[in-house]
Amino acid sequence: MIRPAERLQRVPPYPFAELERKVAAARARGVDLIDLGIGDPDLPTPSHVVEAARSAVGNSAYHRYPPNWGLEVFRREAAAYYQRRFGVELDWRSELLALIGSKEGLAHVVWAFVDPGDVALVPDPAYPVYRSQVLLAGGEPFALPLIEQRDFLPDLQAVPPDVARRAKLLFLNYPNNPTAGVTSLDFLAQAVAFCREYNILLVHDLAYAEMTYDGYVAPSALQIQGARKCCLEFYSLSKPFNMTGWRLAFCAGAEKAVAALAKVKSGLDSSQFSALQEAGAKALSDTPPEFLSGMNRMYTRRRDLLCDGLNRIGLDCRRPKGTFYLWPRIPAGWDSSRFTEHLLSKAGVVVTPGSAFGACGEGFVRMALTVPEERIVVALERISSIT
Ligand SMILES: *Cc1c(COP(=O)(O)O)cnc(C)c1O
Repeated sequence: MIRPAERLQRVPPYPFAELERKVAAARARGVDLIDLGIGDPDLPTPSHVVEAARSAVGNSAYHRYPPNWGLEVFRREAAAYYQRRFGVELDWRSELLALIGSKEGLAHVVWAFVDPGDVALVPDPAYPVYRSQVLLAGGEPFALPLIEQRDFLPDLQAVPPDVARRAKLLFLNYPNNPTAGVTSLDFLAQAVAFCREYNILLVHDLAYAEMTYDGYVAPSALQIQGARKCCLEFYSLSKPFNMTGWRLAFCAGAEKAVAALAKVKSGLDSSQFSALQEAGAKALSDTPPEFLSGMNRMYTRRRDLLCDGLNRIGLDCRRPKGTFYLWPRIPAGWDSSRFTEHLLSKAGVVVTPGSAFGACGEGFVRMALTVPEERIVVALERISSIT
């Protein structure tokens, strides 16, 4: 066997890949699983988007390569969406780039900015892609602990100045996966000021922009004055429009960063199928606000049911204002990976161990609100019988 590149040894296996294997094995044995593991919406894409795709597939102009930066209508509608949603004015030609899902863009932005030995500031716990790509690129991830006492916001003042001076990227993600923490414009302004002081690109992952509850509305970092010079924000269609399988997202912000990422991508891919981009444009332009508010009402009911139930069982859990995750503490005497195994083997309930997202995730598990209420009730009964 030809030895894979040295750099691959630096990267831990994708944690969900292992979980998926164990879950598949249990399912193959016929176990009735309740899957709260992976953050993948259980409801279908809205029908006006599916219909738009259906008819766009027949357009022979779309059977050729898409434009490298993405379809004009998709980028125009993305810019229009930012204007309506955040009051942020963007030049769709220079400040906006279509992505094959935001995971793709978040991974490749590392290759656009991180040289071997460069530092990237990465929250812990966090979506695993940030850290793994920094390691792959030969960079040094510097962990920013997200702790409950600080409402899962990093303490930027605690970053040693010599580390900050070597840093190229600061990753932030609010509403946050996995902690379900949210942020304020005030905190984002501090982050922008920090990035301007140290000449760092703020990479803001806004995947959960529309999944918010109890009246909370998630801000864009681009609302902050000066952010358009130092921030690249990633907006995904996956979670709000139930489109994880479509692979459609865009990034917006600092012109030079957009161009750098486009340069990396130009040697890697040829953008997403134009028919899907046209349907994505429709998702952004034609989805009635009632669709998103209806989804959020459904997630609120699931959240309350699961959160109240967990707290009754003794798994301490905050009631989050964003994302579709809960981040309960596990009982004393367990580590999160053993507790996850225990829930899987004894209760048939799939969760994600907090440690899969970083050392500071230890002591927690992540539960996704991606099953109907009646299954949440069953999950709670089963969990309570074994804890
Ligand atoms: C789901 C998720 C993404 C991935 O979104 P895609 O656009 O489907 O690639 C990115 N970041 C976070 C934090 C997520 O949870």
